[in-house]
Amino acid sequence: MRTALAAGVALLLLTPAARAEWVERVEDGIMGTRIAVEVWADTKEQGNAAIEAVLADMRRIDREMSTYKPDSEVSKVNAEAAKHPVKISRELFDLLTQALEYSRLTEGAFDVTYASVGYMYDFRKHVRPDETQIEKALPGINYRHVILDANAQTVKFAREGVRIDLGGIGKGHAVDSGIRILQQRGFSHGVVTAGGDSRIIGDRFGQPWVVGIRHPDRKEEVIARIPLEDAAISTSGDYERYFDEKGVRYHHIIDPKTGQSASKVRSATVIGPTATRTDGLSKTAFVLGAEKAIEIYNRLEGIDAIVVKPDGQVLYTKGLMAPQP
Ligand code: ADP
Ligand code: MG
Repeated sequence: MRTALAAGVALLLLTPAARAEWVERVEDGIMGTRIAVEVWADTKEQGNAAIEAVLADMRRIDREMSTYKPDSEVSKVNAEAAKHPVKISRELFDLLTQALEYSRLTEGAFDVTYASVGYMYDFRKHVRPDETQIEKALPGINYRHVILDANAQTVKFAREGVRIDLGGIGKGHAVDSGIRILQQRGFSHGVVTAGGDSRIIGDRFGQPWVVGIRHPDRKEEVIARIPLEDAAISTSGDYERYFDEKGVRYHHIIDPKTGQSASKVRSATVIGPTATRTDGLSKTAFVLGAEKAIEIYNRLEGIDAIVVKPDGQVLYTKGLMAPQP
């Protein structure tokens, strides 16, 4: 395998494709986050065209799935699905199917109906619902309220007051979609990142990519470095979108049982085969706690994780060895 790869590299160096190079782009704003795409391309033009296609696809996904855009497909579902089944795109149907799968895997910790209460938070403006508002809206949270009909390709909500938001899985999905575009164009080495979600194809010619996991409080400090090839990685942290009030941190991961911020860990990083999956699983530890989440991750095929507890202790799944002190 290595030899074949080395021979491949040597061949590239002898042919006109010797100009092959890493082409990269970083763009802020799509899906409210930072997007980065990097590919090993025969020519700069091919690399840039592929990156353009990935960015255009991310803008499309943002347009269709954002709850901030009143004319998005998801906004339409939220407006109508309590009244009657709503016909949706194949893409949204498949993503909701996966979302419900992650709800079952995480014993309800991941739940796209978190938004039934979650929509009342605005972390930028330091706005949060009070106890009465939460109590009133809480029965709307339950992934079992989301009824999918595969034959009709529709979604229906079982009751009034249910809202969905794909913010917990959408970036992972966009990353996987971007990787598919790169692969369709014949690229076999590259990275696509949207905020805390990344997926890597191939290696860096014999060397794995190395992804750093940051310290929850000290931005520049890395608590672990993970070598990766052909894998996805997602990190969720309570330092991403939050405000502090009277010593309490209100942040963007919501416990579906209480409608409050889920604060059982400071950060959780999940490694797995696709970014949709790792994104869908990285919220679990916040809701269920580090030990319970590690137990779930350990049961899942091809999943590894690193969880940082509030006291700074770092837990790893069995597939990862704790670094030597
Ligand atoms: P990012 O938005 O940067 O990718 P995360 O991957 O940690 O960050 O996802 C956080 C987002 O997940 C929130 O902004 C919200 O949209 C959504 N979310 C919050 N709580 C839940 C939950 N219990 N289940 C599913 N999604 C959630
Ligand atoms: Mg994410």
